Amino acid sequence: MIDTDKYEGHTPAPWDWFPTPNDSHIGHLQRHSNLTRVTAEIKSRSAEDDANAALIADAPLLLEEVKRLRGRLRDAEDLLVSCGYCRECFWDRESIEDIADEVRSTSSLAIWPTGFTPLCEPCMLLFKEKVVGLE
Ligand SMILES: [Zn+2]
Repeated sequence: MIDTDKYEGHTPAPWDWFPTPNDSHIGHLQRHSNLTRVTAEIKSRSAEDDANAALIADAPLLLEEVKRLRGRLRDAEDLLVSCGYCRECFWDRESIEDIADEVRSTSSLAIWPTGFTPLCEPCMLLFKEKVVGLE
């Protein structure tokens, strides 16, 4: 996971890039003044360089999007956990127990069936206990 704390204090958006005949400058624009802070220069001009300049200039926007999406993901995980799903593997106890019952009826081996997303370690322990009948 990217540690976004290391970006604290960066030059705020909007950033833009400015092509010149021989290079590109990436910088911060203040729309209502002539202030331009050049953050980077790309010393050649090709379609790839232009795309790189555009990507770098969008860095503040991409950072905000990462933060927004992490928040949304955290909210979704919290909702799943509040509904009984495991935060690590996103299986719910009832489904694990149902699968364990099915496995126990056909085999004495506590092996998680292939084709299912894997269980985290605590959920695998629950599954194995259920299959061997400890619970
Ligand atoms: Zn789990």
